[in-house]
Order: sequence, then C-alpha cells, then structure tokens
Amino acid sequence: MITLSHLTKKYGDKVAVKDLSLSMEKGKIYGLLGPNGAGKSTTMNMMTGYIGATSGEVKINGYDIFTNSKKAKAQIGYLPEIPPVYPDMTVREYLTFVANLKKVPRKQRTEMIDKICEQTGLTLEQYRLIRKLSKGYRQRVGLAQALIGNPEILILDEPTVGLDPIQIKEFNQLLLDIKEDHIILISSHILSEIQEICDYIFMIAHGRLVLSDSTLSITSQFTGSKKVSVSVKGEKEDMLLALQALPCVSEVSFEGEQKGVCKFIVTSVDMHDIREEVSNVLGSMNCPIFEMQLLEQSLEDIFMDKVFHFEETQEDDETEVENIVDQKTDKKHRFPRFKNPFKKNKKIKKFNEETEVEE
Ligand code: ATP
Repeated sequence: MITLSHLTKKYGDKVAVKDLSLSMEKGKIYGLLGPNGAGKSTTMNMMTGYIGATSGEVKINGYDIFTNSKKAKAQIGYLPEIPPVYPDMTVREYLTFVANLKKVPRKQRTEMIDKICEQTGLTLEQYRLIRKLSKGYRQRVGLAQALIGNPEILILDEPTVGLDPIQIKEFNQLLLDIKEDHIILISSHILSEIQEICDYIFMIAHGRLVLSDSTLSITSQFTGSKKVSVSVKGEKEDMLLALQALPCVSEVSFEGEQKGVCKFIVTSVDMHDIREEVSNVLGSMNCPIFEMQLLEQSLEDIFMDKVFHFEETQEDDETEVENIVDQKTDKKHRFPRFKNPFKKNKKIKKFNEETEVEE
C-alpha cells in the first residue's frame, strides 16, 4: 500500500506539487496523467525518495520514505523517464551490477536475472551491449532493472515515450502480466494508453489533483450525455437565444450554416441527456430539426475540461501558496551524488545542478 498525505513541493516560489493526497493498493495499475509541467516527475521523485518534500508524507507499506527511507526504498523499483542504463555493459552485466547494488543475495542472483530476462523478453538479448539495443529493448532493460530485487512497487515515469506502437503494446502487455503481484504507477501523456491499461487514474494539473477515480467509473460516468450536436433550420440568432435560455444548458456554440440549416453544439450544465429539452424548445419555435446527435466525451475531453476548469479557478488559490511551511529540505533527502548508481542519468544530474544553484 502506498499513501501520499498532503504532499507539497516548492522550488523557491514555484509550487510544483500541492497538497497531494492519494493511495494505491496491490494488484492494480495506476495512471498519473497530466500536461507538461503538471508535477508528475516531481511527485514520482518524492515517492521514490529521490527528492524531499516541502511538507506532507509518503508511506510505502507503512514506512515513511523520508524518515525510514532504507526500508521504504527497498520495496520500490523505479524507472525514470530516461532509463538509467550503462550502454557499454551487456544486459546481463548491467542487471548483475544492479542486483549487486540492491544487495540481492549472491545465491539468488542468477535465478532472479534469468526470470526477469524472461519476463521482459530479454533472454535472447542478454549478452548484447546495451548501446546496440533498440530504444524499445533499452526501455525493457530499464524495466528489468526496476524489477531486480522483486520490489512490490513499480514507479515508471513515462515508460513508453519514444517507443513505436508495437513496442508500446508489448510493454503494456508486460505490465498487465505482472500487475497481480505489484502496485504499478505509470505517468503518461498518452491518454488512450492510460485508458487501456490503468485500473485507476489520477489527473493532475499545476501540481494539484483534479480527478481521481477508477478508469471504468470515469469513462462510464462521463461518456455520452454532455454535449449534443443539432442541425436545425431557422433564424440563427433566435435559435441561439432560445437554446442559451434553457436552464439545463451551460453553453451553445454555433458551428456553421448551410442552406439555412444551422449547426449548434449544445452543452448541458450537468451530465444528463438534454436532447428532449433541445428538441422541445426548437419545436415550439417551429424550427425543423434535420439532425441531432449525442457527442461522446473521450478521456481526452474530460482531461481538457478538468485542466481548463482548474486553470479558471486557480488564480484565487495562488495566495494560499505563501502559507506553506517548509518541513523538510532537499538537502537532507537528496540521493547521495557520489554514490549515485544512476549518475549518468541526465534527469538526476539536472536536478543536482539545479538545487546547487538554489542552495
Ligand atoms: P513533463 O511531463 O514535462 O515531464 P511533469 O509533469 O513531470 O512534466 P515536473 O517535471 O514534475 O512536471 O515539473 C513540475 C514543475 O516544477 C514545473 O513547472 C517545473 O518547471 C518545476 N520544476 C521541476 N524541477 C524543478 C527544479 N529542480 N527546480 C525548479 N523547478 C522545477
């Protein structure tokens, strides 16, 4: 079980993550969804103990990632956005190196690496140099290193970026195959992919949680009845005013006119089907309806709605930021630079450079 309680991260005045509370349990794949700069990597970096939090708490099966980091980190396999692999090692050498770092008992190493190579489809590639592998296979090596030590929790930061559609399908299948014994959190921009493999979705915008629900519930709850497209003959302005005046309607947009037939997209104030109200009002004006259709909302629409709605309301909220009190510092929890096994990882290098300036 992972729980995040009121997790906040500030970089100077910039609030990257604010008051994030969520929980995750075994056997499920969770999707962390958000636009660029939403705070996905920052959240994952705090969850894995790479960086400290300004305030709040992360518990990994009861262990605090900041105060009991050894025990908590031992249960996490992390794949950062750029896989932390050494290109001049063979796959097998590298996985052995990681097993060594993770203190996997010597007797178990061979069997564990064999099993993970098989799980990740790397058996045939295990004696090849990593630099000679395709991006998809390098990504598999990244996942394989995260699986070493059999951690219950897998945190994967945009693991499918740069993969082709076949590689993405294979990679996702891999996650589905192993999900039973793990808690898997993946971040992604690819909404369809999140929809396809995740059981539960956390949407974040500007570091805040804007939606948190099961994929099934989100799609069934939001699909189908919010927008109606109607093509109708009549006076454009009169019809527009009449539709806008309906209490069940929040917005009407004019899409165009052809031979006196106007097309409108009518949005309801809530999620109910407004075809009856729309048809009644247009009928009472003797305006013949040529076509009417419910427009299904995709996950992408929901996401855009949530982000835009959040941005509209955000301004009032900004002043609150000043009240956040620093409880923990990056310095205390930062990954030790000279012992960093992933020191070639650009993201961590960038992080270290940036915090150096801040200090
Ligand atoms: P992307 O999808 O582009 O990777 P993200 O959702 O992972 O974005 P983060 O990388 O977590 O977003 O960044 C969240 C915010 O925090 C951004 O505005 C970013 O500029 C800022 N940020 C991240 N790291 C630092 C840092 N070390 N110093 C200052 N600001 C930072």
